[in-house]
Amino acid sequence: MQLDLTGKVALVTGGTRGIGREIAATLRDCGARVAISGRTADTARAAAAALGGETLGVGADVAVPEDVTRLIAAVEAGFGSLDILVNNAGVTRDNILVRLKDEDWDTVLDTNLRGAFLAIRAAARGMMKRRWGRIINITSVVGVTGNKGQANYAASKAGLIGLTKSVAKELASRNVLANAIAPGFIDTDMTAALPPEAQAALRAQIPLGRLGAPADVANLVAFLASDRSAYITGQVFVVDGGMVM
Ligand code: NDP
Repeated sequence: MQLDLTGKVALVTGGTRGIGREIAATLRDCGARVAISGRTADTARAAAAALGGETLGVGADVAVPEDVTRLIAAVEAGFGSLDILVNNAGVTRDNILVRLKDEDWDTVLDTNLRGAFLAIRAAARGMMKRRWGRIINITSVVGVTGNKGQANYAASKAGLIGLTKSVAKELASRNVLANAIAPGFIDTDMTAALPPEAQAALRAQIPLGRLGAPADVANLVAFLASDRSAYITGQVFVVDGGMVM
């Protein structure tokens, strides 16, 4: 079964590295025209060029409302449409609760949750008008389970789940579908920052015995972005090697 996204335009926020870059490459392989964003214009443009094909790289910090407005406008102007929005940009600022600084709370919530809301609000108009849209929010298993030392991150990812379900209910009548993917531990810069002992301890909790690869997430994004997922909305899909059941 080849997923066909020919004629569709996708935006992947935080597409310069890690899971986002793999999502962008997979959507492009399925035939979509793909835009990616990252905080620095040069990095975003270079990452887009490296993908090859008809791509666009835009420098935009999703924690800055004006940047998100400019980002969505740039994609719609550049490609004439925006059909698939993948809210992937995310950061961690981990600390135990009593040491968690206000600014670390704000940075994580502004990036992971408000950024997604702003992008969805800006992109929804065009999707509703065209009566076709896919919104895919990259949350996390810790948004479902909580995690010590990640109160800010877990709250942002749990918020993203509530946002996904509300958007799904509001936009379903216009054939705009919204789903969330909750990865477990995926091998990227984000998890490479963990000490080796912590990585080994994590692996021991994963029935499939390995960290996930970015492609494990990207393959599901491609399916949810396609017409094959036409009857699925408001769901949270866990991609974690069986860690949380
Ligand atoms: P990385 O740290 O490898 O990459 C993060 C990406 O987000 C980069 O492309 C970065 O681009 C971009 N980004 C960060 N902050 C901003 C911002 N303010 N505005 C725009 N872009 C930004 O992360 P992963 O690939 O590991 O994670 C991707 C998503 O998956 C995140 O939402 C993360 O929370 C989630 N996730 C990851 C898991 C994992 O195990 N890796 C597990 C569960 C969820 P740049 O630096 O160029 O600005």
